[in-house]
Amino acid sequence: MSDWEIYCIKYADRNTRTRADSFIFDDNHDAPHPMDYFMWVLRRGAEVILVDTGYDTEEGQARGRPIRLDPAAALQPLGLQPEDITQVIVTHLHYDHAGGLHLFPNATLHLQSAEMAFATGPCMCHETLKMPYTAGHVCEAIKRLYAGKVVFYDGDAQVADGVTVHCIGGHSRGLQCVRVRTKAGWMVLASDASHFYENIFARKPFPIVVDLQNMLDGFDTLHRLASDPGLIIPGHDPLVRIYFPQAMAPHIFRLDAGPIKEIPR
Ligand SMILES: [Zn+2]
Ligand SMILES: [Zn+2]
Repeated sequence: MSDWEIYCIKYADRNTRTRADSFIFDDNHDAPHPMDYFMWVLRRGAEVILVDTGYDTEEGQARGRPIRLDPAAALQPLGLQPEDITQVIVTHLHYDHAGGLHLFPNATLHLQSAEMAFATGPCMCHETLKMPYTAGHVCEAIKRLYAGKVVFYDGDAQVADGVTVHCIGGHSRGLQCVRVRTKAGWMVLASDASHFYENIFARKPFPIVVDLQNMLDGFDTLHRLASDPGLIIPGHDPLVRIYFPQAMAPHIFRLDAGPIKEIPR
């Protein structure tokens, strides 16, 4: 079977952050550290798999974190309408990854059992753990479950030929990364298993964490799954837009041919 194309879609950014928001125990804690928000499209001929769904304008207003593009509109340059999307890999249920589920009503969701259990269980009694979740997004996943449109995984699994998911946990209990076969080799969409290149290459944990050991072990897993460290794609790093070429629109970047610049490690 042939290889997949991967498109990285930037729909929002937040630039009022500092390094303390990105790294535990950072010496330079009050230096600015901007963040991008992405979703990803895997495409092979007529096959399309969406990885995460972003969040919408309403959620942006509720959190004071406005988006630049509605997730459905952000896909338009790829010729994709929301109703065309039938498969969504949900890396985890945090608001910035599951906040667009309602925009893709025909999609079957691919999710780790541990993430659904976490987002609907007693850990949500803790404000700190609940903070990145929004009840409406979790309810949307539950509605999809009752409609027969959720596939659950426990650990490693194949979603399609050349596309596998791997439970990492750490940042959230059921966080999964996505490994994709491309012409550049096995590429790994880390999502929030590594927000920035610096998390994984300098082994610096991100402050939103449920299990620190799982997060640190996850850095090893990402290295093991990728053909080359340059093929690990962090979930929120603006540098992705420097290392990979723009394609089709200013907010879309093509990943599957590999980086166009040397990525410092
Ligand atoms: Zn997250
Ligand atoms: Zn995130």
